[in-house]
Amino acid sequence: MREGATDARRRIPRTDLVLTDPRLAAAVATFGRARVKAVVVGAQHRARRGEIRPEEVPDAAVAALPGNRPRPVVNATGVLLHTNLGRAALSTSAVEAVVAAAGYTAVELDLATGQRAQRGREALAALAAAVPAAAAVHVVNNGAASLVLAATVLAAGRDIVVSRGELVEIGDGFRLPDLLESTGARLREVGTTNRTTLADYSWAVGAATGFILKVHPSNFVVRGFTTAVPVRELATLGVPVVADIGSGLLAPDPLLPDEPDAASMLRAGAALVTASGDKLLGGPQAGLLLGDADLVERLRQHPLARALRVDKLTLAALEATLRDQDTPTWQALRAGPGQLHDRAERLRQAIGEAGHKTEVVGSLAVVGGGGAPGVELESWALALPALYAEALRQGDPPVLGRVERDRLLLDLRGVPPEQDDTLRRAVLRVLQRCAPDGPTRNR
Ligand SMILES: *Cc1c(COP(=O)(O)O)cnc(C)c1O
Repeated sequence: MREGATDARRRIPRTDLVLTDPRLAAAVATFGRARVKAVVVGAQHRARRGEIRPEEVPDAAVAALPGNRPRPVVNATGVLLHTNLGRAALSTSAVEAVVAAAGYTAVELDLATGQRAQRGREALAALAAAVPAAAAVHVVNNGAASLVLAATVLAAGRDIVVSRGELVEIGDGFRLPDLLESTGARLREVGTTNRTTLADYSWAVGAATGFILKVHPSNFVVRGFTTAVPVRELATLGVPVVADIGSGLLAPDPLLPDEPDAASMLRAGAALVTASGDKLLGGPQAGLLLGDADLVERLRQHPLARALRVDKLTLAALEATLRDQDTPTWQALRAGPGQLHDRAERLRQAIGEAGHKTEVVGSLAVVGGGGAPGVELESWALALPALYAEALRQGDPPVLGRVERDRLLLDLRGVPPEQDDTLRRAVLRVLQRCAPDGPTRNR
């Protein structure tokens, strides 16, 4: 009725009043007053159209804040670098750097002289400092882009000599050979799936060779009757060796003894190393290029470099990650099984006190996302009936676990300890809502 509608409209709170809501006041600091005000006005319109009640205007405005999307997810899959979950979680310092760089920033300006300066020089300097064996470094959009740039500059119209055992598919339909051929380079496949020798490479190398490519089979292992040729031997064949290590491990780490690293590859004679920023380095999506000064300069000068360049947010996050490499990824890798067991046990108890039974079970976590294939990390998980998987995935925040033999495992290795409380509340909400025999409040 008209009267009722008018009444409701009168009750729509004024913009100034809505903006005093602490959640919106905090958002003003992040997004600026104009952005937040626009969101409030949008919520008032919805109330005027009768879509929400006047009392709901502040909540609707908060829900519509830009910061509320994309939603953070609790990664209890036991896969530390999950490509579907955005691979590495950034460290606090990297997140702060991204926020600081979001406004105007001197990404290409020297504030001391007022002159134009090299784009992202601090990030590049941090990368160079982290890998002293690299004479020069460059950063592009992702690992694939670093390979495209190298193949275009060094091998368009020429041969890339590569072992048949290293023509890999990285992720959903992403096949390295297709990517390399898209640049106009020819693949000169040598050896077999399981065995490739120095003689195989040696036969194939000639005047038409752009470079030899050594690819880390980063998401599978070949066992048994196998031979591969190390970079140190390939480097004796008189053509550049490009090593695609994938994972972004910059120096050897005792925790992952079989994982190739940039420094060792360069010391072994690789002319160029390519890697991702968001795998084991634990930073933002980026493609790292490290190697000979002349070669890196040629990559940097190529017109394609401009199309593959990274934005200021990536540069900020990358620099922060390189300066403080104690990232969530490495905290998860280094967490002791004892710590993980204690956390799982505490969660089980807290959930038990609220009247719900869960179990603590041993689990095996993996690095994932193209790193350390075959490495299993001892871990602990909270086990629930598998039927809760969907409700947890659709919860707020979404919790992703792993279903194993009809049980949903919530593996704690990939969950930062500060998320334990969030996880406990999310699990309880779902257990209370979807227990098979209805709500269990009176149990
Ligand atoms: C992950 C990976 C790539 C692709 O890197 P993106 O950053 O995903 O583009 C290429 N090569 C190897 C060996 C990899 O592991």
